Amino acid sequence: MTRIAPTPSGYLHLGNAANFAANALLARRWGLDLLLRIDDLDRARFRPEYLQDIFDVLEWLGIAPTVGPRDPADFAAHWSQERRMPLYVAALETLRSRARAHVFACPCSRTELADGVHAHDCLNANISLSEAGVAWRINTRGTPLHASIPDFVVRKKNGRPSYQLACTVDDRHFGVTACARGEDLRDSTAAQAMVSDLLGYPKLAERIRFIHHPLLTVGGEKLSKSQGAAGVRDGGMSQEEIFAIAEGWIATP
Ligand SMILES: [Zn+2]
Repeated sequence: MTRIAPTPSGYLHLGNAANFAANALLARRWGLDLLLRIDDLDRARFRPEYLQDIFDVLEWLGIAPTVGPRDPADFAAHWSQERRMPLYVAALETLRSRARAHVFACPCSRTELADGVHAHDCLNANISLSEAGVAWRINTRGTPLHASIPDFVVRKKNGRPSYQLACTVDDRHFGVTACARGEDLRDSTAAQAMVSDLLGYPKLAERIRFIHHPLLTVGGEKLSKSQGAAGVRDGGMSQEEIFAIAEGWIATP
């Protein structure tokens, strides 16, 4: 199984569309199921029109996922990440019990962490994970991840699972075996491999074949989600052009 995993926190752009196409091509090439997994943990930025946009873009591209929600109503009823919250909570408890040496509580604000040093001496202070208002972080010291995403969060200060935690759990839950994602997520993949190990899952690299593809640029500009409604359909590329780009991304090994 491969997956398309957008977030309904903005309108999609051509780069997202090309990523969808890459995963659809992988599914076809290797005879895999194609999962539509909409990552909606960020409720503050969620808007119904962004959710609808995901289905509209898939339809425009002619991509029909074989697993996942059929429409926004089906999504809300059965496929929202809120429905899998018990899985995430259980995984966090597993980290607490199984990987306590790697997880620490951190009450630092963004500003207090600005220079990468914990103002509350969190690594040594042995703050209880049960304390209110602390984030749970993974100690990345001594790993290559420390330069890119130091001490990444697995549980946010509001008690909710982080993207890295939920993504790791979801990929295992659904049995994902292949995934094309942007090269900007290379560090995320490494973080998820670490979480996977700490949870006692089989090695991520042996379960999932990741293809990290370049980010699509138009006229040298990186694309962002803020380009407004109908961003994909009015983006100046046909479906065929989008699939041709995606084909190039997955052509190499
Ligand atoms: Zn801290």
